[in-house]
Amino acid sequence: MSTVTNLASPLLNTYPPQPVTFVKGRGTELWDQTGKRYLDFLSGLAVTSLGHAHPEVAAAVAEQSETLLHVSNLFGTEPGRDVAATLDRLVGGGGGVFFCNSGAEANEAAIKLARKWAGPDRYVVLTAEKSFHGRTLATLHATGQPAKHAPFQPLPAGFRHVPLNDLAALEAAITDDVAAVLIEPILAEGGVLPADAEYLQGVEALCRDRNILFMVDEVQTGLARTGEWFGFQHAGVSPDVVTMAKALGNGVPIGAMWAKADVGAAFQPGDHATTFGGQPLATAAARAVLTVMERDGAPGVANAAGAKLRAGLEALPGVASVRGAGLLLAAELTDKSGPDVAAAALEAGLVVNGLTATAIRLTPPLFVSDEEIQEALGILKGVLA
Ligand SMILES: *Cc1c(COP(=O)(O)O)cnc(C)c1O
Repeated sequence: MSTVTNLASPLLNTYPPQPVTFVKGRGTELWDQTGKRYLDFLSGLAVTSLGHAHPEVAAAVAEQSETLLHVSNLFGTEPGRDVAATLDRLVGGGGGVFFCNSGAEANEAAIKLARKWAGPDRYVVLTAEKSFHGRTLATLHATGQPAKHAPFQPLPAGFRHVPLNDLAALEAAITDDVAAVLIEPILAEGGVLPADAEYLQGVEALCRDRNILFMVDEVQTGLARTGEWFGFQHAGVSPDVVTMAKALGNGVPIGAMWAKADVGAAFQPGDHATTFGGQPLATAAARAVLTVMERDGAPGVANAAGAKLRAGLEALPGVASVRGAGLLLAAELTDKSGPDVAAAALEAGLVVNGLTATAIRLTPPLFVSDEEIQEALGILKGVLA
């Protein structure tokens, strides 16, 4: 093995043993401390969508670090205002943005906004079974995976889970105490399980009819990953609240919650806050990310590259089916285990994710080249043989 295990480390045991220590990246490529090269078809869990060490993001971060890093949200800064305006336009307009530092925090903001908007007797947020919304106590309860709840009970009250793509079940769950529905357009961590367009349209109609908020968690699907700016746009719906994070800073931590103006107005000064959220380093990175994504047509690029990767995966012996959209794909395997294939691929120089016992997830950078796709498919072919 040329990979190097971490030395007995001062890290707590929250992740499995880390098989590789990476020291450098560029575009789709990574190098470990022995100099071995890898193709990164995971992008740090759909974060580095522009690839590693993107020159324009690097320049923006460097310049901002020499200009202004932090002044608190008691004062305005230019990069934050620019990013908020761009996000509002990309979501569809007519809203405002709250910045934070992660996906879980973006969802926490959405949950608090829903409670403030709906009033004291309506506080329940409905989410999907198998969903993933974060690891804070509230977002853990929003996450529709009971096994993850068990050791941390009691969790904050106010969450119920319904089966995905079952409109009748959702309708039955909308009792008088419900404030909002929160849904991922594709359940990413839960197995890359797409919500049907008709289902999302039905969810929107139900939310309108029952006067509850329609909130989408775009933390993983957002920002061109699925071939549209946001995953909900495939279904032609217009949610009240949209949360995002992962790809927004291309690796610099930043999250954001967008809300329609009339809904967002439920937040008044003092209702919600953050020390670091929206500070200029993170928003300067995000501004560069959005500039590159818009200039280079990231959604269309992701769509085209995704079609090539999907077709190549479907043609591989050992792959039963491929699901997802754009460059958020899962390959269901015929007989091998997802984690085993991910481990063997890593050994062979390809980073993918062992998504489930029977599937792997592929989320390469959006501007992955045809040659890199072919190289990755070649590695997977060998691993699956
Ligand atoms: C990753 C993820 C989160 C949590 O984001 P963190 O930045 O890890 O807190 C929430 N929702 C979805 C859909 C995610 O994929």
